[in-house]
Amino acid sequence: MQILIDQQSFTPNRVFCIGKNYGEHVKELGGKTPEEPVVFMKPVSSIVAPGESLFMPRHGNLLHHEVEVVLSISREGQDIPQANALSFIAGVSLGLDLTLRDVQVRLKKSGLPWELSKSFEQSAPLGLFKAYNPDSIDLENLSFTCSVNGKLRQQGKTRDMIFPIKNLIHTLSGWWTLRPGDIIFTGTPAGVGPLKAGDRVDIESPDIGLFSWTLFTFGEIGYFYRRVF
Ligand code: MG
Repeated sequence: MQILIDQQSFTPNRVFCIGKNYGEHVKELGGKTPEEPVVFMKPVSSIVAPGESLFMPRHGNLLHHEVEVVLSISREGQDIPQANALSFIAGVSLGLDLTLRDVQVRLKKSGLPWELSKSFEQSAPLGLFKAYNPDSIDLENLSFTCSVNGKLRQQGKTRDMIFPIKNLIHTLSGWWTLRPGDIIFTGTPAGVGPLKAGDRVDIESPDIGLFSWTLFTFGEIGYFYRRVF
C-alpha cells in the first residue's frame, strides 16, 4: 500500500491511535479523564482510501464515526522532546477511527483489549496527506468536521485536546522508536454517533481538504473497489 503526501508517496509503517483525548468526548462516553495518553493500534491493512468502497463490518450492531486529525512521521526518533516534536511531522490529514461501540462497551466491561471493536477490516478510512508546513497549518488550532448525509455531527478544534500533538509525539516516542511511515490518529471530539448502510460520511478541514466515503452493506455490490492512492 502506498499513501500520498501531496504528490509524494510513502509506505505506511504502523497506525497508532489515541483514545479519550477531548474532554467533551470523554464525558459523552461516561469515562474518566486519562492521566496519560491512551494508546492503541490498528493494522495498516485497515486503511481505506478516500472514495474506496467502505462496507459495514460483519460483526457488532453499532458502528460509530470518530473524525480525527491524522499525522504522518517523517524521520526516526526516540524520546523526542516536546519542544521539537512538530519537526518530526511529514504530513497532516483527517481520518475516521471507526468503532463498534457495542463491542467496545462489552470488552471494556470485561477488562479485555479493544481490538475487536477498533481494529477490524476497513476500520481506518484515511484522507490524503498535506505536507506539513508550520506557516500554513496551525496544528495547535486546526478546525475539522464530520457530517453524515450532509448533517453536521462533529466539530473539533485541536486546541481542545487533553494531550496536545507535541505531547503525543513525545509520549509515543518514549514507548516506541518512531519511524518514517508511522501514522497517528490523534483522538476524536464530541458528537460521535451511529452509521448505517447507505450513509455518506464527509470529513473536512479548510486547511486539509474534504474526504468522503459511502457505506455499503457487506456483499451488496459485486466487486470490491480498491483504490490505489
Ligand atoms: Mg478515536
